[in-house]
Amino acid sequence: MPAMVDLKGLDREELKRLVEELGEPSYRAEQIMRWIYRHDASSVDAMTNLSKGLRERLARVATIGRLAAVSGEQSVDGTRKFLFRLADGAAVEAVLIPDGKRRTACISSQAGCGIGCPFCATGLDGLVRNLKAGEIVEQVLALQRLTGERVSHVVFMGMGEPFANYGEVLKAAGLLSDPNGVGIGARRITISTSGVVPAIRRFAREGVQYGLAISLHAASDPVRDVLVPLNRKYPIDQLLDACREYVERTNRRVTFEYVMIRGVNDGPEQAARLVALLKGMLCHVNLIPLNPVAGTGYQRSTPEAVRRFARIVRDGGIEVTVRRERGADIQAACGQLRRSRAR
Ligand code: SAH
Ligand code: SF4
Repeated sequence: MPAMVDLKGLDREELKRLVEELGEPSYRAEQIMRWIYRHDASSVDAMTNLSKGLRERLARVATIGRLAAVSGEQSVDGTRKFLFRLADGAAVEAVLIPDGKRRTACISSQAGCGIGCPFCATGLDGLVRNLKAGEIVEQVLALQRLTGERVSHVVFMGMGEPFANYGEVLKAAGLLSDPNGVGIGARRITISTSGVVPAIRRFAREGVQYGLAISLHAASDPVRDVLVPLNRKYPIDQLLDACREYVERTNRRVTFEYVMIRGVNDGPEQAARLVALLKGMLCHVNLIPLNPVAGTGYQRSTPEAVRRFARIVRDGGIEVTVRRERGADIQAACGQLRRSRAR
C-alpha cells in the first residue's frame, strides 16, 4: 500500500491533482484547502461539506498532520513559547507575541541553522534539517489551537535561515496568505534573512507582497564577517544592491535589523557608517539590544550606547526604532530559541 499523504503542506495545485485522481471535480480542492488551513480540521471526516463517499476515499489515502507540543511556557508579558517535536524527532520552537490587537507568530523555518552567527543560540548546534511547508504552516495553526487566539501577523524570525530553505518557506508563506489558506495578508508576513543574496533577488522578483527584514548587524565588512559569517560570501555592498532591487520591484521598505553588542558594533563611527550605507534607501532600522547567550562572550550594549546610536541614525535621516524585548524571562526573545536547551 502506498504511504499516506499529509494534506497539510499541499498547495492548491497539489490538492487539485489529488481530488482529480479520486475522480472528483477540481473545485473540491478549494473546499479541502479551507478545511485544512482556515478551519484547522483535525480529520478528513470533519469536512462536512464533502460527500460521504469523497471523505471515505480521501481518508483512505490522506491524513492531516499535527505537531505535538512537548512543552509550553508563558512570559509575564503574555508571550507564549512552545516546543514542537517533529515526526522524525527533530524539534523546533514557535512563539506567539501579543501586542495590542496584534498576535504575531514567530516561527521556525529550519531545525537548527547552518549560518553560525556567533551571538545566536540557534546557530550553536548547526543545522539539523529544513522544515517542510506543512511543518511551517502547522506552527501557526498549532499556536492558534493551543492559545485560542487568531494569529494576525507572522515573522520568520524563529529558528533557521528561511532563505536557505527557500522553496518550502515560500510555499508556506503562500499557504498562510491565501484567502482559502490561513488567510493572513501577505503584507503581514515578514521573512528575515541573514543575507542570502541570490535568494533576496529571486524573492524580489516573485511578485509577492511579503515583508523583508535583513539581519545587517554591522556597517563594515570586517565586523559583519565575524557577526554574520555569510558576509564572507555575500558582502555588504552586494547585499544592499539586492535590497535595492527588492525596494524597486515591490515598493516596500526593507527593515534592517541591527543587534546591539557592547563594544563590537555599537560605536558612533559605526552608526555614521550605517547612515552612509543606507542613505536614500526606502528602509527602516530596528535596533535590537542583544539577548546575551551564555558561553558566547557577547554582551548587550548599554542603554546609553543604544540611545546614542539611534540618535546618530535618526539625525542622518533614517527611520529607526529600538525593539522592545518580549518573552525574555522564558528565553523566547530574539535569538534565544535553541533546541538543545529545550526541556
Ligand atoms: N536566520 C534569520 C531569521 C531568524 S533570527 C536571520 O538571521 O535573520 C531573527 C533575528 O534575531 C535576526 O535578526 C537575528 O540576528 C536576531 N538574533 C539572533 N540572536 C540574537 C540574540 N542573541 N539577541 C538578539 N537578537 C538575536
Ligand atoms: Fe541562523 Fe539567524 Fe541565528 Fe544567524 S541569527 S545563526 S542566520 S538563526
